[in-house]
Amino acid sequence: MAENLIIFNARLVTPLGTTARKGKEMAELMVMDNATVEVTDGLITYVGPSRGEERDGYYRRYWHYNARGRCLLPGFVDSHTHFVFGGERAEEFSWRLKGESYMSIMQRGGGIVSTVGATRACNFIQLRNNAETFLKRMSLMGVTTVEGKSGYGLDKDTELMQLRVMHSLANDERRRVDVVPTFLGAHAVPAEYAGRTDEYVDYLIREVMPCVVKNGLAEFCDVFCEQGVFSIEQSRRLLLAARQMGLALKLHADEIVPLGGAGLAAELDAVSADHLLHASDADIRAMAEHGVVATLLPLTAFALKEPYARGREMIDAGCAVALATDLNPGSCFSGSIPLTFALACIYMKMSIEEAITALTLNGAAALNRADRIGSIEVGKKGDFALLNTPNYHFLPYYIGMNCVQTTVKEGVLYPAG
Ligand SMILES: [Zn+2]
Repeated sequence: MAENLIIFNARLVTPLGTTARKGKEMAELMVMDNATVEVTDGLITYVGPSRGEERDGYYRRYWHYNARGRCLLPGFVDSHTHFVFGGERAEEFSWRLKGESYMSIMQRGGGIVSTVGATRACNFIQLRNNAETFLKRMSLMGVTTVEGKSGYGLDKDTELMQLRVMHSLANDERRRVDVVPTFLGAHAVPAEYAGRTDEYVDYLIREVMPCVVKNGLAEFCDVFCEQGVFSIEQSRRLLLAARQMGLALKLHADEIVPLGGAGLAAELDAVSADHLLHASDADIRAMAEHGVVATLLPLTAFALKEPYARGREMIDAGCAVALATDLNPGSCFSGSIPLTFALACIYMKMSIEEAITALTLNGAAALNRADRIGSIEVGKKGDFALLNTPNYHFLPYYIGMNCVQTTVKEGVLYPAG
């Protein structure tokens, strides 16, 4: 669905450009008062001073919306989530609160194994309904594009089903959020392959990935590159094969220990490296040099009581930083954009302007879409987050609470409240 829409009398707040903003550029936003934005068939066709739209009868083919001076931002881009899964792990979370260790939870059947079991037990409709509910909630917080990963099947049929769910949501005529699918078959080693990680990587490359690519079910390939999961060598092998088959690359890197995943991302010119809680100084510099988007997920660090990624240092080193929620049923059951803003600004020492760029244009760059979304400029999609305040400083200040009044998707208005 795409509409013709004119939003007038808005305070426009947006980064500019069609590529990731790096280092100091991240703080450069264009702010324009009394702005008009025109959307034709879902695409932005005018941005600038008022052209008298408030007069009756001007442009009869367009819906008119008076923003009354409130802030209009690009729609938020959540570039790292795992929103397609079966079951939930609320009980396991309660064990964790009582101090139970990860190993003991695993022994009780918790952890990713439990989500893999629940996802394999779902049919397509169940998985799709669950996932669609999350998309709707995210839309209420101003999100207009979401990346989603497979990785809770760890077998060919279920991995493909997760990706087909995303494909179906991405092509839904009535969608409120665009969906970008990522193949993460290398999320964990399934029980069937315990102790045989190399064979599992072979299986993914030989049996699963070709089906994913042949059916056009994913744009990216991702890997959980972590000690005890997939080594640097195994991750490199998988990603090189993925690149050869035409997929763009992402990595879960240096989340738990400093293994060197961020350096591997730079070596392979991956589009993004994500988490990065323990990325080394040298690897941060390498990411900056190679234009790898550093995608930081502060909600996960918060939920796991881990130290936050060094967002400030990464920006100062010249990196393009993106922020995302990491919504998943285990380590971080939250898709809260408001809390992401607060944690990034309070604990990762990012400025409000940098956080806005990180959740819009740089998120778009982390999905190879900075030429189409992520800023309010002619030619891009008419995807916006309209705040309920003229002051964009409310984004981190209003902690964990939503200050998005209306989300606009390709010119269609969706009021949040
Ligand atoms: Zn993740």
